[in-house]
Amino acid sequence: MVSERVAIIFHGIGTPGPAVPEGERRYWISPARYAAVLDRILALPDPRAVRITFDDGNISDLSIGLPGLVQRGLTADFFVLTGRLGQPGSLAAEDVRALRAAGMRIGSHGIDHRPWPTLDPETLWAELSGSRLRLTAICGGPVTEAGIPFGSYDARVLRDLRRAGYVRAWSSDGGRIGGDGFLLPRASITADMDDAALDAVLAGEMAPLRRLRRSLGMLRKQMSGRLSA
Ligand SMILES: [Zn+2]
Repeated sequence: MVSERVAIIFHGIGTPGPAVPEGERRYWISPARYAAVLDRILALPDPRAVRITFDDGNISDLSIGLPGLVQRGLTADFFVLTGRLGQPGSLAAEDVRALRAAGMRIGSHGIDHRPWPTLDPETLWAELSGSRLRLTAICGGPVTEAGIPFGSYDARVLRDLRRAGYVRAWSSDGGRIGGDGFLLPRASITADMDDAALDAVLAGEMAPLRRLRRSLGMLRKQMSGRLSA
């Protein structure tokens, strides 16, 4: 049951390592900005209306993300890439367990951070089912939610997510959640966002034309690939 009205995504906090591609650097924010975003959520009339998520399983999830949440009595979902577990700059299995022990939720972001619609059936299945089973083994309990890499999905991806045992998938379509369906939208927090842009995201605001485009885009993606799948 999802009661939140909007969901946001953090990626990395601090300075991105050399392995982070140029195009992903805008998804990294400073520790001060991270603290400011959390404080802004706490200042909302209902802080619990915001679902906080982290993608990619960067080590900053544990070193900066977790303490910031715990200090404020907040919780979050951590969508982890199992193919990066234990690598430099990424969480290790015991870190995932530590996040869970601290009251955080663990979900899958797949194995190798690839756009799922582009994968052949076997590779897609491994990404969805393999990562879920690995995380379930690490956590010692069910892992049933996925954060979709690059927000990239189609009908085949959604079908296989359900088959692999997921009960919910989080995209990057932005805007308000508006229900408790299988596929729910999130919005990324980026380094170039000023306070006004942040407040708009936290309020789930979108310009009418953008909202229309988003709705049509979500519909198109959910339908696409259906005939060929
Ligand atoms: Zn990602």
